[in-house]
Amino acid sequence: MLSELMNNHKRVDVTKMRANNFLQKQNEIELNKVMAIQNGEGWEDVSRCPLCGCQERQAEFRKHGVDIVCCVNCGSRYGTQIAANLDDVYKNSGYLSYSKEDNEEHYNYRRERFGRERVAILEKYCGDITDKYLIDIGCGNGYFLSVAMEKCKHCYGTEFSDKLREFTEQKTGLTIYNKSLDDLPLKSFDIVTLFDVIEHIPDPDPFMQSVDKILNPGGYVLIFTPNFDSFSINVMHEYSSIVDPTEHVVLYTLPSLSFLAKKMGYDVVYSETQGLDILNILSMQQYIDDKQDHFLVEWNNELQAMINVSRCGDYARILFRKP
Ligand SMILES: [Zn+2]
Repeated sequence: MLSELMNNHKRVDVTKMRANNFLQKQNEIELNKVMAIQNGEGWEDVSRCPLCGCQERQAEFRKHGVDIVCCVNCGSRYGTQIAANLDDVYKNSGYLSYSKEDNEEHYNYRRERFGRERVAILEKYCGDITDKYLIDIGCGNGYFLSVAMEKCKHCYGTEFSDKLREFTEQKTGLTIYNKSLDDLPLKSFDIVTLFDVIEHIPDPDPFMQSVDKILNPGGYVLIFTPNFDSFSINVMHEYSSIVDPTEHVVLYTLPSLSFLAKKMGYDVVYSETQGLDILNILSMQQYIDDKQDHFLVEWNNELQAMINVSRCGDYARILFRKP
């Protein structure tokens, strides 16, 4: 029933997260990164699926001159080209100014709206987290950790950006490592969280093996990542800011995430999609026509709630458990 659906639907106030001309800004950022790659070490070909190694693939569409393809074996999507040196993307000044753009209000909104929700998922599925050892990989400005530490006594993070790491350390007083997983001094965790991380990893296999090495038996991995097999990407194609071959080098679907779990010998405890499909489509309309469809504006929350329960939202969440 719609009324029941809406009772359970958690709304997102996008004005507290994004600028008005979000997609236009996003596109400018992407084009800057494309330039940085072209002026740097250029692109190199990707000949097989980064997740499963299969070479057979089907074309989806093109973005920034890169073909986005679907692996016929595991269903993940990837660009047929990748930056030869990812430092061209992550160490260019445009990227750095973008990643610290969040202001205090945005930070507080994300913390209350998404940080609390993420901790609630852990508490629901992992039991009492008070004494568990938790590490948030790529913790960004730490809004999730700042909530997690209220419930969990042993919280850690990793973050390569100096600015974001220092910000998080100051805000939380927690230890945030500037190290890859293989070099962490502490090697035993009960919960590993990966929010907006795995889509950036060109070679998921060794990365997830490193996650496995630091995770205790019976431990959990919580992954949030864009969902390619979603309503908004079906509508928007290359207009979607989720499709960004400069950074999002692998795009997953719920089945390809389950494939990843199986490959690691892990069980899937929970999965769902919670997207911003309608808001993203509205951003596209604004970007192309400078106007938005009234029906979509009016019924955004209802439509999104229906998309979410259909598991077609553009953001996937999945929890793995190590046996
Ligand atoms: Zn594959």
